[in-house]
Amino acid sequence: STGRVVVVGGGFGGAACARALKRARGDLQGDLQVILIEPNAVFTSCPFSNEVIAGLRDIEAQQFDYDRLAAEGVTVIGQAVTTIEPQLRGVLTADGVALPYDRLVLSPGIDFHFDALPGYDAAAVASEKMPHAWKAGAQTLLLRRQLEAMDDGGTVAIAIPANPSRCPPAPYERASLIAHYLKTRKPRSKVLILDAKDDFPQQRLFEKAWKELYGEMIERIGLSQGGRVTSVDPATKTIVTEFGNYTPDVANVIPPQRAGHIAEIAGATDATGWCPIDPVTFESKLVKNVHVIGDACLGGGIPKSASAANAQGKACAAAIVNLLAGRTPEAPRLTGVCYNTVAPGYGFSLAGNYQPRGDIFAEVEGGATSPVDAPRELRAREAAEAERWFQTITADTFG
Ligand code: FAD
Repeated sequence: STGRVVVVGGGFGGAACARALKRARGDLQGDLQVILIEPNAVFTSCPFSNEVIAGLRDIEAQQFDYDRLAAEGVTVIGQAVTTIEPQLRGVLTADGVALPYDRLVLSPGIDFHFDALPGYDAAAVASEKMPHAWKAGAQTLLLRRQLEAMDDGGTVAIAIPANPSRCPPAPYERASLIAHYLKTRKPRSKVLILDAKDDFPQQRLFEKAWKELYGEMIERIGLSQGGRVTSVDPATKTIVTEFGNYTPDVANVIPPQRAGHIAEIAGATDATGWCPIDPVTFESKLVKNVHVIGDACLGGGIPKSASAANAQGKACAAAIVNLLAGRTPEAPRLTGVCYNTVAPGYGFSLAGNYQPRGDIFAEVEGGATSPVDAPRELRAREAAEAERWFQTITADTFG
């Protein structure tokens, strides 16, 4: 037999990687066994979850199972991985089963860096009172319910962390779509953005759209104005910033982030909380035979997005097949595209190409961003393209 690859995490990176490994198997002399370990029977997608929060979409449209992967020959195990033993080349699942691997792929996404935000801890009370909705599912629906329960004239605060973080433009898309909901249903309300950054992706496009669509409804306090959140008190729903205290009616607190905890258990994280990799093979710089893809890896210039995780999953699969066959992996060229929807029928996009440079990915030529001044037809076209992007990437990842 040729080998056994265990993939941990069935999100955009892991599912794409498992499928690609199974397809690339034909390249190998012997058999390739691909095992995907993921505790949830149904995956809930973060892309387009801002539409669910704004009441524009049902959560069911966000959900995908692993039936197709299983039908294609991937062994899907519905457990969480609790321990990784790199020396023994094995993982242990929550039910106590040990599974050996030749190569291990980690795509666990993010976890929160609770130490970096006093008051917001792993206890359920913080995320119930101040939902992050930065992992999709119950949190998405909770934030939706809190918006529905808010009176007209209320304030919705969104606390945004510094980079690196999952999907840097998504908080601003969320602010836009919440403003859309408020404008149509509770027009005296406000959105207050408390931001640990001064600049953000596609800023001029967002700010122009906000003025055009929502007037004064969205207010943003950036880093230089003291907008960085330094602590929270979930019991009183208080957000403390460098500038002052806020007690909004709805508090969407997005805590600082790091790689999913299992990456730390594997010994694959460094002092940043993320996983340094060789960008040609995605192999960890810290643990042999362990590859890290998606949000959890230190990608450098490549943003943490579903688009990037999917592309990395496929490139990592190709590299592993080459390694198992004794060939030298080729440096990948990755493409990522990110759509932002600020109102129904109003979207814009950012596309980039990335290649390994040293220990990270660097952006190379060929990227594109939507023009700041463009007719509404282009915005409408890009909103429709965003929908098609979602159909395509979820079909490519989950079947
Ligand atoms: P995930 O997709 O989060 O998958 C991780 C999986 O690992 C999960 O299923 C989890 O259950 C599993 N897991 C974790 N620990 C273990 C363990 N110990 N054992 C087994 N399994 C485990 N990206 C875009 O490209 N376009 C967008 O429009 C977009 N919009 C977004 C909007 C929002 C509001 C947010 C929050 C994100 C958005 N993103 C978008 C980013 C995108 O969701 C992530 O970048 C992407 O999901 C990363 O893929 P991943 O495989 O690294 O992690």
